[in-house]
Amino acid sequence: MEAGRELRAEALRLAEDLRRYQYEYYVLGRPSVSDLEYDRLFDRLSALESRYPELKTADSPTQRVGSDLEAGFEETAHTVPVLSLDKAYSVAEVVAWMRRLPPQTVFSAEQKIDGVSIVLYYENGVLARAVTRGNGFVGNDVSENVRTVRSVPLRIPYEGKLAVRGEIYLPKKDFELLNKTLEVPFANPRNLTAGVIRRKQSREAAVVGLRLFVYEGFFEPPLPDQQAVFEKLREYGFPLNPHTVFLTADEERLRSQIEKETRGRPLLPYEIDGLVFKVASTAEREALGYTEHHPKWAIAYKFESPTGETTVEGIDVQVGRTGRMTPVARVAPVEIGGSMISNVTLHNQDYIDLLELSVGDRVQVSKRGDVIPAVERVIEKNEGAPVYKMPERCPECGAEAENAGAHRFCPNGDCPAQKRGRLKFFIGRDQMNIENLGGETMDFLIGKGFVSFPPDIYRFDYTKLMKYDGFGEKKVESIVRGVEKSKSQPFAKVLVSLGIPELGPKAVSLLIDSGLTSIDLWLEAAEKGDESVFLSVKGVGPSIAASVIGALNRPEMRGMIEDLRRCGLSFECGKRSSGTDSRFEGTSWCITGSFGHFKPREKAQEEIEKRGGRVVAAVSSKTDYLLAGEGGGGKRGKAEALGVTIIDEQRFLKMIKGEE
Ligand code: NAD
Repeated sequence: MEAGRELRAEALRLAEDLRRYQYEYYVLGRPSVSDLEYDRLFDRLSALESRYPELKTADSPTQRVGSDLEAGFEETAHTVPVLSLDKAYSVAEVVAWMRRLPPQTVFSAEQKIDGVSIVLYYENGVLARAVTRGNGFVGNDVSENVRTVRSVPLRIPYEGKLAVRGEIYLPKKDFELLNKTLEVPFANPRNLTAGVIRRKQSREAAVVGLRLFVYEGFFEPPLPDQQAVFEKLREYGFPLNPHTVFLTADEERLRSQIEKETRGRPLLPYEIDGLVFKVASTAEREALGYTEHHPKWAIAYKFESPTGETTVEGIDVQVGRTGRMTPVARVAPVEIGGSMISNVTLHNQDYIDLLELSVGDRVQVSKRGDVIPAVERVIEKNEGAPVYKMPERCPECGAEAENAGAHRFCPNGDCPAQKRGRLKFFIGRDQMNIENLGGETMDFLIGKGFVSFPPDIYRFDYTKLMKYDGFGEKKVESIVRGVEKSKSQPFAKVLVSLGIPELGPKAVSLLIDSGLTSIDLWLEAAEKGDESVFLSVKGVGPSIAASVIGALNRPEMRGMIEDLRRCGLSFECGKRSSGTDSRFEGTSWCITGSFGHFKPREKAQEEIEKRGGRVVAAVSSKTDYLLAGEGGGGKRGKAEALGVTIIDEQRFLKMIKGEE
């Protein structure tokens, strides 16, 4: 049977849409549809093509690896197969795949790291090129950016040519910190990594703490199996994922491994989106071979994403601290993946248009891993209701909204919603960390008109709260204590709290290290419009420089800084109103190894910063101390060579207790 005109048109449309989604996903790192929706469209096209083979074109997205090629980078041909993976969405599908292989086959079970695929090409021991997956035949040369990733070995003890495949990823914690500073945040670490790996300025990539795991090595002559490959790669200093295990085709063992990894997933410091099972033996792999799209010797088990059905009861528009207007669907409460969902972000108008979503529609909502819930599709239309359109004006202050990229913004800096967002950011855990003053209390203070911008937090007489329900003496005392304690936050934290777009903790630390050790130096550079002061710092790019200069020249920002300074906040390194410690004040510390007492080791960093010291990422001649725990060889060696004082954990504990 031949496909009719309608089906032909559908296949063409699907192929075109899938190619566009691939570009948004791989190149821009900003997908406009969810993975579930993408997979649904992909499966629909595959089904059409297998039913009507004449619909299959050579460039169909089902016939080749999803392309991540971008025009701005040089293209280079792959010399090894760089394919995608066949997928299974249930344990039963993995079992069925294994059953087709000889019973004694040995497999590796690896975590499927949710990052960006990379191929590292070494020539005579030197990293010659780092290339994206591209379309599987050619990829983009992104060597400059990849060289800035610290876990990528630049030299290895290997003669001849060697290609190594791996995944570049961003740990969840780094993602959260960095994302908070972006005007338009990314939905997950993967998308941010895809964007960073294609930055035009490698120094901008350097500042993001990207990491690497490798999972294939193409040795010449080939090694006998994956175990031998891993052993060699480890020996050469490549980072291997410690969770990999090797198993035989035993169904029980397979199930328990999948269960174990599924349970452990939320606790991992990075995102994974499934597990990959690979035949270990090189000879068996060659015998099984490849399709155009994937090797036949491996299968990816993708974690199920829990979904639920509910009804959209309304759509609210939230205005964030930068003025971005985000439509949020208010849905009838539904339990998905163990949590009750009643609000689901709709991102922007494009996303709503794509879903053709109206208030009253019945929808499918999914929740993937730690990621925020998403409306996947409309299941049943609220007939006659129009597709929702975002308002032309800010729903909070009525200002005429402006469009920038796919998003709509309220341009009024005095908008109450923006002010509220900035205040909540200011008191947040990673900024001023005002203990005992949470979001709810802040809403109350704002609602009563007691606090409307950050300096008010330090001026308000909190005893006035005692006449209100829920504010007893103890509670008020604890708020006052939290507010007072926050005054000892170091200059770096105060700067981040100001909420300057793109100015996150890493950029702040680099700029302070470069000599911008007081706010007056920052203000002076901003006043002169002197971008070079910022741009001369490796890791700081033009967009950060422009954002800092723009923000620091705004009269309201200058007024706020002066007020906060008067309130006793620290606007200079090592100077603060309380909590200083002369042995730490103004000193520069580097931390290496692992510790018994300080777990995670950020706790040691907090102790140093609380006392007026700074923590830097690498040992240099300007570093005063290296705090060295167990292990951590490289930095110790460098500190010894440069004569930097090395302090062990016991001595450090004594120092902070004031015993030394
Ligand atoms: P994939 O899911 O097919 O997996 C293959 C990739 O897994 C490899 O390229 C490699 O980079 C990675 N990987 C991680 N750990 C690995 C390990 N231990 N061993 C081997 N490989 C490992 O990836 P794909 O082909 O890039 O993408 C297809 C999927 O991406 C789709 O199913 C969809 O979910 C998503 N996607 C979404 C959109 C969208 O618009 N939302 C667009 C394109 C793709």
